[in-house]
Amino acid sequence: MSHPPPDVSTDDCLRSYSYLFCPDILRDKVAFITGGGSGIGFRIAEIFMRHGCHTVIASRNQEKVSDAAKKLVAATGQQCLALSLDVREPQTITAAIDKALKKFGKIDILINGAAGNFLCAASSLSFNAYKTVIDIDTIGTFNVSKIMFEKYFQDHGGVIINITATLDYRGQVFQVHAGTAKAAVAVVEDRYYKYYHPHGTNEGTESGRLSDLPILLQLRSIKDAMTRHLAVEWGHNNIRVNSLAPGPISGTEGMRRLGVHQPNWDRNVLRSPLQRLGNKTEIAHAALFLASPLASYVTGTVLVVDGGSWLTNANDYMKLLGIDTYYPSKL
Ligand code: NAP
Repeated sequence: MSHPPPDVSTDDCLRSYSYLFCPDILRDKVAFITGGGSGIGFRIAEIFMRHGCHTVIASRNQEKVSDAAKKLVAATGQQCLALSLDVREPQTITAAIDKALKKFGKIDILINGAAGNFLCAASSLSFNAYKTVIDIDTIGTFNVSKIMFEKYFQDHGGVIINITATLDYRGQVFQVHAGTAKAAVAVVEDRYYKYYHPHGTNEGTESGRLSDLPILLQLRSIKDAMTRHLAVEWGHNNIRVNSLAPGPISGTEGMRRLGVHQPNWDRNVLRSPLQRLGNKTEIAHAALFLASPLASYVTGTVLVVDGGSWLTNANDYMKLLGIDTYYPSKL
């Protein structure tokens, strides 16, 4: 079944909530959520708090996170600390984590949700614009994870969830900056297999499939992705590291800035397997699963929560580029 839970399109708490998970599944846990003052991060904070968690929401705009914290506390009765930090500046991260530890005495969960994005053709993208997105999405994720490790997770364990995207799975116009930035954090498993085996396994003999093994192993070895590296390196510290890759999500800045400006975006959505946008609560439920003991044996993986849309998205790049006709290249 794919009926979405209710949601609201603004950065406000849900008007009502029906529990699907055990209501105290995160009781007395503390989650540190970058980008927690708006959009997906805000809803993750709310759903975690509704399940007994206290939160720290942190981003550059102190006023924004303070307003968000008031709403979250009022709706859930849990504690929420609003802090200002810039994930590109390690000293601000250190200060924020110190304040969080001073208030709560511990941190159990880190959500790396801070990101910046916009539509821009690669040829128009300034060097600085490209670097800024990499700095926030990729290096920012590393900065916060490393400081959290040193300050607390190294000795106490923890859960890290990196919010990524599906942009790079097929390549999208105007998204080279965000696509590469997120890909450095998470690379999905078996999509490569599909491209190297367009006709499925029927075309190969047993030996043919075996001969493909080096390609598969090679592809696996190029998963130079932060989530897997850190999952492997920090597993023995009792730290689980996973990525959560949302598809097009309604009521978010991401969708307002990117989705609706693309031609035929609504038709693309309707032609996707679940034929609709996702909502923030659905992403928050996936994050809740990954953060909870239900996922105690899950690490180093990417949970794609996109209604299957990356599989069928038309990705009609000529139309997206605004070119009406094009001439197929001669082979
Ligand atoms: P959003 O509301 O704009 O969330 C991004 C947050 O990051 C903002 O709260 C922003 O707050 C914070 N931020 C930006 N730069 C920062 C920095 N340098 N340091 C600290 N915080 C920073 O957008 P959203 O659409 O909900 O996206 C949330 C996450 O989901 C992002 O990682 C995004 O890439 C991912 N995602 C979204 C969609 C979608 O459909 N919306 C799809 C795939 C993936 P300040 O401005 O206060 O810093």
